[in-house]
Amino acid sequence: MENVIILGTGCAGLTAAIYTARANLNPLVLEGGQPGGQLTTTSEVENFPGFPEGVDGFGLMDNLRKQASRFGTRTQYDTVERVDFSGPVKKLYSSSKTYEGRVVIISTGASPRLIGVPGEMEMFGGKGVTTCATCDGAFYRDMDVVVVGGGDSACEEALFLTRFCSKISLIHRRDELRASKIMAQRTLDHDKISPVWNTVVEEVLADEEGKARGVAVRNVATGEKSEIAARGVFLAIGHTPNTKPFEGVLDLDENGYLVPQNNSMVRTSIPGVYAAGDCVDHVYRQAITAAGMGCQAAIEGERWLAEQSFSG
Ligand code: NAP
Repeated sequence: MENVIILGTGCAGLTAAIYTARANLNPLVLEGGQPGGQLTTTSEVENFPGFPEGVDGFGLMDNLRKQASRFGTRTQYDTVERVDFSGPVKKLYSSSKTYEGRVVIISTGASPRLIGVPGEMEMFGGKGVTTCATCDGAFYRDMDVVVVGGGDSACEEALFLTRFCSKISLIHRRDELRASKIMAQRTLDHDKISPVWNTVVEEVLADEEGKARGVAVRNVATGEKSEIAARGVFLAIGHTPNTKPFEGVLDLDENGYLVPQNNSMVRTSIPGVYAAGDCVDHVYRQAITAAGMGCQAAIEGERWLAEQSFSG
């Protein structure tokens, strides 16, 4: 049986791993579908303390991983589908294996949201629709693309795409960006980026080969419908927490976020089970806050474990 099982290898999970490993708890980290979490799809992280020139997301996660393994963290690729937290030994089930642990730290993060319009899924991944400019931007060199969304992610994606693309139409459903002021200004000042305000995408349009050729849009203020030609459709409309395995077991809010309990940011309703990062935090959602929550969960778990007497 494991002392500590950590789900996820984003900032929260790997920070929890560093702390529990340094506490000699020999944590097992289960790495799900997106190793390294969302930062691995980010180009430059400018607001993580300690990096005055910024740091690239992939490099930061690689360093966290090395730091965690240096103190004895073990990592395994597996995705937990179901859990049983009814007894003192917590059970986690993947498609092929059952894991047992005393402490569980859930840091499963969140996944990019889709719009839910015709053509989106058909052209997702390789045919023009994507949620990751860092991963796919270079495929759209000298082409026109659209970015959908008005938050920091949308601005970051649009700015990154200026390195490759001829023109980026930033389609936002309101007439003001949600992004931080500095990011919004940088985006609106860029001569390759054209905002398309008060507009929603109603369909992703396919060419004769089934690849994206543009989007059908509607202006929500005037009702006017039109098309915007684009080879790439980059979606940046927020995220959905990865909490499905905990439905019916732990408290989730109406958007699927784990609800922290007992005047804590990281405790769940089950003693010994903690949650950290974007699967529980829908307010701050930063790399540094996820790391902070990972640290909190690790310290809580370590203290709780020290108070327990297990028979095995
Ligand atoms: P977000 O802040 O939730 O923004 C989502 C955007 O998508 C909003 O503009 C929203 O419109 C729009 N949207 C949501 N659902 C939509 C739909 N169905 N159709 C059309 N538009 C839709 O998400 P995010 O940009 O991914 O950022 C998440 C968090 O990460 C934030 O806290 C952000 O500050 C942080 N972040 C930071 C950085 C950085 O600092 N480098 C980079 C990326 C993200 P409304 O505005 O109308 O709601």
